[in-house]
Amino acid sequence: MDKISISVRKIVEYAYRSGHLDITYRSTTRALEGIDVHKKLQGLEGQGYEKEYYLSFIVPYKEIQFEITGRADGVFTLDGLHYIDEIKSTTLSPEDIGDGGMVHWGQAYLYAYMFLCLNDFDEMGIRLRYYNVETKETTVLTQTKGKIELEQIAVEILDKYHDWARLLIQSDLLFVDSAKVLDFPYSTYRKGQRKMAVSVYETIKKKKRIFLQAPTGIGKTISTLYPALKLMGQDEVEKIYYLTARSSAKEVAFDTMRIITDKGVRVKSVLITAKEKICFMEECQCHKDYCQYAENYFDKINGALFDAIQNYDLFSRDIIENIARKHQVCPFELTLEISLYSDVTICDYNYFYDPRVSLRRGFGEESVKTVVLVDEAHNLPDRAREMYSADLVRSEFLEVSRPLKDSWKKVYKSIRGINKILLELSKEVDTDGTTVIELPESLPHKLRTMTNVLDEWLGKNKGNKHHKEVLDLYFRAW
Ligand code: SF4
Repeated sequence: MDKISISVRKIVEYAYRSGHLDITYRSTTRALEGIDVHKKLQGLEGQGYEKEYYLSFIVPYKEIQFEITGRADGVFTLDGLHYIDEIKSTTLSPEDIGDGGMVHWGQAYLYAYMFLCLNDFDEMGIRLRYYNVETKETTVLTQTKGKIELEQIAVEILDKYHDWARLLIQSDLLFVDSAKVLDFPYSTYRKGQRKMAVSVYETIKKKKRIFLQAPTGIGKTISTLYPALKLMGQDEVEKIYYLTARSSAKEVAFDTMRIITDKGVRVKSVLITAKEKICFMEECQCHKDYCQYAENYFDKINGALFDAIQNYDLFSRDIIENIARKHQVCPFELTLEISLYSDVTICDYNYFYDPRVSLRRGFGEESVKTVVLVDEAHNLPDRAREMYSADLVRSEFLEVSRPLKDSWKKVYKSIRGINKILLELSKEVDTDGTTVIELPESLPHKLRTMTNVLDEWLGKNKGNKHHKEVLDLYFRAW
């Protein structure tokens, strides 16, 4: 029987996702806020509440054996009934939350079914808690479900995922079979190249790190990709990231993968193009009122993804754009989705290291044996400083606030509050050089308050002509 391992979140999202894409700003901030919300609500629970409860369950469905794993936010017992607790951060009001979304209930139901089967219970309680990050209010929804009902839901989820699972298994088998014939794709090694490839191979096998310095022209790209792929064929590696700062180096890495693919190896490789470059619209305003590729994105993405994985191995920018146009989905988001199911992802450093970029979504839920190949790693300290640093320019606060003065007083005042602090700071700066000043204690808090005000404004004023400037300031301050 074929097997597939999958997390609860992934299988349920695939089964029930629907609706529009809205990633103007919320998803990046909310993901991090969500972690705090979980900790906060879990911390409020009393003794007997088991947080981050790990569940693993093997279930056959049709010809596939599914290994489903995940961590329920909490498990507790009330009046003799065992409950699964799921926590979600939101900006929706209780009225808009309504009965809750099926993606959220689906996760809780599946955890409940797994817990029930593993413990041989007949019935489970399910609690869904929505924490509004703006109002700090919690909406609690509870249900009780019997074994038969939970089993029906589990079967429905497995059924929706089945064809996709079949495709993933097939493409994995194709890779494993073809990887057996994977040889170094050139007739000879250049001087030093074999030694380099062997060193990389040994290092990955021992799960260590290696720093390589080699002269230009030795063929570093193939000397690192080839041993990593060789180990992927032996099931020692599941995912390879090739990170580089230069577009030309990305092309070289992608061409290398093309050469390997041309030799008959069925490996899936994706080249990530920057959002601003691959976007089909004039500006990256990713919401349905502006962009048709964001509209009903989640209803269309499974079809696009199926088409991609079934029909292609090499995902260049052109191929991704064609698939995205055919299915009317955002090409950048499609790229990120394809990356989740690709063997090799070639991209800039920030897609892997920057906490605000979502390429690593899903990390930590399933243990994936990942190899990271970093081209010109001496660039990393500078890039890391950029990723984790912020600079605030007073004139930007002034410029953005001015046109909002009359109609958006609350936003205007909160931006001006930051301007005032920066003005005070500027008085301490020597005119003849650089001055190191201690960060005023109130600044982080005031910035947080301001971003909350902007957050609300941005959500309600998507068509406003000042939206972009406010959004840029929001990101600068966040
Ligand atoms: S096509 Fe552009 S604007 Fe539309 S969702 Fe994608 S990145 Fe955003």
